[in-house]
Amino acid sequence: MYRDTWMEVDLDAIASNFREIKKICGKKMIAVLKADAYGSGDIYVADTVLEAGAEMIAVSSLDEALIFRNEGYTGEILILGAVPAQFIPKLIRHNISVNAYSRKWAEEAAAKGCRGLKVHLKVDTGMNRLGFKECSDLKEGFDILQKAGCRMEGIFTHFCCADTDPQLTQAQFERFREAVNYLAYDFPWIHCDNSDATIWFKDDLSNACRLGISMYGISGFKNDLQHPLSLWSKISMVKTVRKGETIGYGATYTADSDQIIATLPIGYADGFIRANQGRKVYAGGQYAEIVGRVCMDQCMIRLDSVLPEGTEAEIFGPHISLEEMAEDLHTIPYEIICLISSRVTRKYIRDGKKYDEENTRMVRSRITK
Ligand SMILES: *Cc1c(COP(=O)(O)O)cnc(C)c1O
Repeated sequence: MYRDTWMEVDLDAIASNFREIKKICGKKMIAVLKADAYGSGDIYVADTVLEAGAEMIAVSSLDEALIFRNEGYTGEILILGAVPAQFIPKLIRHNISVNAYSRKWAEEAAAKGCRGLKVHLKVDTGMNRLGFKECSDLKEGFDILQKAGCRMEGIFTHFCCADTDPQLTQAQFERFREAVNYLAYDFPWIHCDNSDATIWFKDDLSNACRLGISMYGISGFKNDLQHPLSLWSKISMVKTVRKGETIGYGATYTADSDQIIATLPIGYADGFIRANQGRKVYAGGQYAEIVGRVCMDQCMIRLDSVLPEGTEAEIFGPHISLEEMAEDLHTIPYEIICLISSRVTRKYIRDGKKYDEENTRMVRSRITK
């Protein structure tokens, strides 16, 4: 809270992106809020997207689902990851839907007792992560769970290349259609699209989309989304380093002239990984190189001209996009935002206003309705 490093989360921009994509999609919307809503603050993003028309929340684990229940959210929650059958009583007690992904899991669930459990059958159409691969297996799993008293609430699959390969996506979809037809059951929820597929893939089978990364403005197929996330720090010290001096652990950087060096209170324990060395941040109108090794809690940058201590430095945001940063680091935007650690304060913007601590709590309590 008191450290000069924060992530700004513009909830208005998230709501706008969500509404925009909901319009394109025209189906029920499942907001994927796993991993603390991709690092943005699950409760705040939930409040925002529920208001913007999300009908269900998806998370990765029972632990994540219980965060929402503990906050008083009583709506639909689906767990996308594997939940061991031993926790089924907890799922039922908290009215949390779970994915059923193999015949073995179905058998274990039936043995444990799963009357009233809401399940979404997961069909593996090529991702090879979780899911029934064969229609015959899927049917057996379905029968076992139905006989045991589960509520067969949904069926779904996940595309592995919706961002890059339309042909493979279509082929996966055809396998999904085959599986859905094979069961010939009237599922209330049929879903296959992640963010990218939601934007470009059209089908007459599914009735819901699972939206994650595009809420944060990241999409290879729609470039007019807003960018709600930005990461900031503030210069804590400015000094002149003489020619020949080195900077940081390992003395990996030597000044080849007298240089103006500033220190930022952001380091790898904030998720600002050491591979950022040599990249740039944007401060006071200049792009400043990160020089020397990134420390656990701090790093140093080289300025062209002196800036006052306290000057804000943008890590990613309006001048350095999240996509650009991801490309530099040979990764994807998902990884960068998920790695921003819990000690980095999230500052929210809602209804055009910055939220202070008091207002942030107000947002939190709204979800408990
Ligand atoms: C994470 C995830 C999503 C959301 O994917 P995005 O690319 O972020 O939209 C959808 N479905 C499943 C099963 C997921 O694991």
